[in-house]
Amino acid sequence: MTLLVTGGAGYVGSHTVHALLAQGHEVVILDNLSTGHKWALQDCELITIDLRDETNLVRNLKGRSFDGVLHFAAKSLVGESKNQPTMYYQNNVGGTTNLVRAMQAADIQRLVFSSTAAIFGNPVSDLIDEAHPKAPINVYGQTKLVVEQMLEAVTASSDFSATCLRYFNAAGANNAANLGEWHEPETHLIPNALRAAAGTENPLTLFGDDYPTPDGTCVRDYIHVDDLASAHVAAIDTMMESGVFGTYNLGNGNGYSVKEVIAACEKAVGSEIPFTIGPRREGDPATLVASSQKARDELGWAPAHDSIEEIAQSAWNWECYRRDTLA
Ligand code: UDP
Repeated sequence: MTLLVTGGAGYVGSHTVHALLAQGHEVVILDNLSTGHKWALQDCELITIDLRDETNLVRNLKGRSFDGVLHFAAKSLVGESKNQPTMYYQNNVGGTTNLVRAMQAADIQRLVFSSTAAIFGNPVSDLIDEAHPKAPINVYGQTKLVVEQMLEAVTASSDFSATCLRYFNAAGANNAANLGEWHEPETHLIPNALRAAAGTENPLTLFGDDYPTPDGTCVRDYIHVDDLASAHVAAIDTMMESGVFGTYNLGNGNGYSVKEVIAACEKAVGSEIPFTIGPRREGDPATLVASSQKARDELGWAPAHDSIEEIAQSAWNWECYRRDTLA
């Protein structure tokens, strides 16, 4: 297949590009390189444009033949989304609207969309399946939910197909490919814990230990980034056979508390990670754990790296490489 990958220079996007190339697909990356990295670009063409520029987008896609688009490019920080809501709506909702319009103008009919567990808000059940109520408690989650709703409407009114993959907590790295996570500023737990261990950054703050969970810290479902990548490959393969509108939750189905994640990071690093307890972070539900049964049943997908220790180890290997080679 020939596939367009928006945000292919970003964290999940670059791992998915790697997986697609390994399967023999031809990949073109579309990225404005605002948060993506040149070092993450692989052996494929790069189109450097911004999704907010519809005219340029239409011009660039016109006459090109793609079997589908995997759409990662987005703003994805919960805190930032609270402070800059219009920027989030413009990028995530406006950018995706432009992309769909440009795809339709170029007769490209299949889209795999990066969605998120943040569309669910506070869970009302232990495991979150696709039918769980959607009530996002932050702007980032709102923008992703609006896009899902738009895509459902587009598929209902045309030949367009869309698959929404809702990531729980993406983590880990592909050490063999020298790919991994690098956000500035970094807000995520595992890289922050590893950077604190390396002593190069601020000490780690644990955001709240008074949640209604076994050890009082938030519980999340950490999913290896290579498992997210393989889910995208499975999704686009499945869409070649069938598919109009589909949603899938992607996680391991196991929850780990912040303290358990710090312990896994300490094991990977081989030393204690200093942290202080701070107040809760706004917009954080106590627990988020996925049921991914539907993805297993319908996409034939299963995570291959589901231990938190393996995830933390791969992230630590990446952190050492990043620091020594790229930083
Ligand atoms: N967290 C923390 N300190 C940090 C970053 C995150 O205690 O420096 C907590 C955060 O409150 C949440 C969990 O770790 O309970 C996972 O947060 P992360 O930002 O990695 O992912 P999110 O769940 O927001 O997608």
